[in-house]
Amino acid sequence: MATLDLSRISKSFGEAKVLHDIDLAIADKEFVVFVGPSGCGKSTLLRIVAGLEEATSGEIFIDGQEVSRAHPVDRGISMVFQSYALYPHLSVYENIAFPLRVAKLEKAALDAKVQEAARILQLTDKLKLKPGQLSGGQRQRVAIGRSIVRQPKVFLFDEPLSNLDAALRGEMRVELSRLHRELNATMVYVTHDQVEAMTMADRIVVLNGGRVEQFGSPMELYHHPATRFVATFIGQPNMNLIPAQVLGTEPGGLAVELPGGARMVLPVEAGGAASGDAVEIGIRPEDLRLGGDLSLHVEVLERLGGSAVTYGTEPGGGRFCAMLPGDAPIHEGETLALGVAPEAVHVFDGGGRVMRRLRAPALVA
Ligand code: ADP
Ligand code: MG
Repeated sequence: MATLDLSRISKSFGEAKVLHDIDLAIADKEFVVFVGPSGCGKSTLLRIVAGLEEATSGEIFIDGQEVSRAHPVDRGISMVFQSYALYPHLSVYENIAFPLRVAKLEKAALDAKVQEAARILQLTDKLKLKPGQLSGGQRQRVAIGRSIVRQPKVFLFDEPLSNLDAALRGEMRVELSRLHRELNATMVYVTHDQVEAMTMADRIVVLNGGRVEQFGSPMELYHHPATRFVATFIGQPNMNLIPAQVLGTEPGGLAVELPGGARMVLPVEAGGAASGDAVEIGIRPEDLRLGGDLSLHVEVLERLGGSAVTYGTEPGGGRFCAMLPGDAPIHEGETLALGVAPEAVHVFDGGGRVMRRLRAPALVA
């Protein structure tokens, strides 16, 4: 059992405030990913949980026990970093065993733990090798092995895959998900890569400028981003944003006009929006189809096989991307007529907050 609760965590370095009142309740056995652009405060927040950095204010609870001022080794956590510091002169076995040697564990119990970690990480046949004889992915597994043998309540990972090449990162993503299932442990994983966040997380914390933009399941963030920032951060290719003008409210929702004159009635609540107000509409490239009132001047066409991704501009001059079926009959240089279901359109107010939908679509969680 290990829940992790953060209450009003703030952090300043001198004059610079880098974390603002972070509240999070992470459930037992949950895999939570902190994601956000470089410099948004992910590592600082994780280091505060680990006890490697002290919060300026706020409290941390592990399993309901306050640990805000506890020494790192007394918190029952274990952290794996991007740069895995293995001892080059020690074997894989001794690298994994290291924390147990420090703790003076007796030989049979130590051996059982190392063998079990090696089995879980598929390193059994590598135990006699030195780190220099391993691939990058295997070395990272040894570093993870060293944290497994300590049987922490909470595992913390700070961009552990960033140094690996793309193919290996994909493999390690699958392995870490498998590891999470097998260990049944609470894990917090930091990355700037939204694909890692989407594929591994039970729930994602999107951080921006030291604030939590949104905390939810991957599909919740994908279908119901709370802000323009989350909307454009989650999803590949990125969501299109088009400035639009409010025409007024109609029974079906908010009527807007797009650059080039296309009009849409979108099923969102008007809130305080009045005729003439500027809003932004967000459309995911994969929600567009051929035929409709929107137009896209195709500059670049990438046929990926299963899909054809086209990049170009909309009539207002903004960048616009559409993902269409792989064999869609389209060409570079032409102007496409595209359509989108009104329910699939996101609408953001002047402050970048999403405007509430009139009826919530079904959600796959
Ligand atoms: P991330 O991991 O999301 O890239 P960090 O948590 O490393 O971001 O950094 C958040 C902000 O805090 C950055 O602006 C960074 O420059 C600043 N920062 C981090 N550590 C220190 C430090 N020890 N002293 C001063 N500023 C720091
Ligand atoms: Mg970092």
